[in-house]
Amino acid sequence: MTQDWGKRTKLVHQGARRSQYGEVAEAIYLTQGFVYPSAEAAEARFVETGADEFIYARYGNPTVAVFEERIAALEGTEDAFATASGMAAVSGALSAMLRAGDHVVSARALFGSCLYILEEILARYGVEITLVDGTDLDQWRAAVRPGTKAVFLETVSNPTLEVIDLKSVAEIAHGVGAQVVVDNVFATPVFSRATELGADVIIYSATKHIDGQGRALGGVICGTREFIRNTVEPYMKHTGGALSPFNAWIMLNGLTTIDLRVRAQAASAQAIAEALQGDPRLARVIYPGLPDHPQHAIAKTQMGGFGTVLSLDLKSGKEAAFRLLNALNVAVISNNLGDARTIVTHPATTTHQRLPEDQKIALGITPGLIRMSVGLEDVADLIADIRAGLDMI
Ligand SMILES: *Cc1c(COP(=O)(O)O)cnc(C)c1O
Repeated sequence: MTQDWGKRTKLVHQGARRSQYGEVAEAIYLTQGFVYPSAEAAEARFVETGADEFIYARYGNPTVAVFEERIAALEGTEDAFATASGMAAVSGALSAMLRAGDHVVSARALFGSCLYILEEILARYGVEITLVDGTDLDQWRAAVRPGTKAVFLETVSNPTLEVIDLKSVAEIAHGVGAQVVVDNVFATPVFSRATELGADVIIYSATKHIDGQGRALGGVICGTREFIRNTVEPYMKHTGGALSPFNAWIMLNGLTTIDLRVRAQAASAQAIAEALQGDPRLARVIYPGLPDHPQHAIAKTQMGGFGTVLSLDLKSGKEAAFRLLNALNVAVISNNLGDARTIVTHPATTTHQRLPEDQKIALGITPGLIRMSVGLEDVADLIADIRAGLDMI
């Protein structure tokens, strides 16, 4: 009905439903259950749940449904299922589609918990996992086979910001009938072109840019109506990873401004990367928007922008990295990303601490690496803050 709206219009209006009071802002339906007008009506609803009919908040809720409709319209998928966190979305999507004996090929550079789900949990249930270097298409070609049920990747990896050629990986995967599942957090719903490039299932941690203000956990799985309603929904409704109506309302408010926020944050990230490039204390400034980024050309064609995160690799290692982090006055030390506040992390000692030393090196997580999620502050203040910090090393 509203298919030809632009993204920003969808972000403000898509899926809105008003109660008899005609409220302007979305209502929070903070209710676990729903009253049926009669026993017959209850029976009928359990036989078939119609549009805008609900049974129990673990299955669905009016506020959550508005969020699902809005994000699906934004991503260009037929449907979406909202979850309690990004990890509930990743584990839900994969567990719902896979069974013992299936084979999955995944990029090696993954968010730690995603790697845990593949290597520790799914492997325990008889799913075979092959890890590849996501930027090497020959490795994807060599790894897929007729029994490959899914390929899994982060379109831009954390924290070294490698960009994977999604269109080519999708062609390789579809050649053997495998589904393409992407964890699209770093691309953001604003810059994502995952649907047109061939992704079948697109997952977001809503905790990041969708909330955008560091308040609530949430996640979402986007895909075809058949996949969402017949594969994901039965799994999620019986295992209990539903998004709360209150958090759905927070995410809806986040979506209203996400286009403005992410574009402003990406512009600042680009400006910071350019300002710091060539600094003698830095071995590398990693940002997909810099022409010297190894996958700059791919990033340019497959994303509407280069993202809100950059990484800095300090020549003098951990000690220098800690000095810089401790000297910053505007940016805060934390491990979230996509927040309105600029957030800095030392991956080697925090988010990726668990990894063995050789794997850290293989993934480019050096002792001097700092990940910076750029916020909404004045970019001149951020650059001055980082420059003053570098002078303290
Ligand atoms: C944060 C994050 C997740 C997990 O999301 P939560 O909401 O914290 O559960 C998964 N993948 C990526 C790439 C992330 O950045």
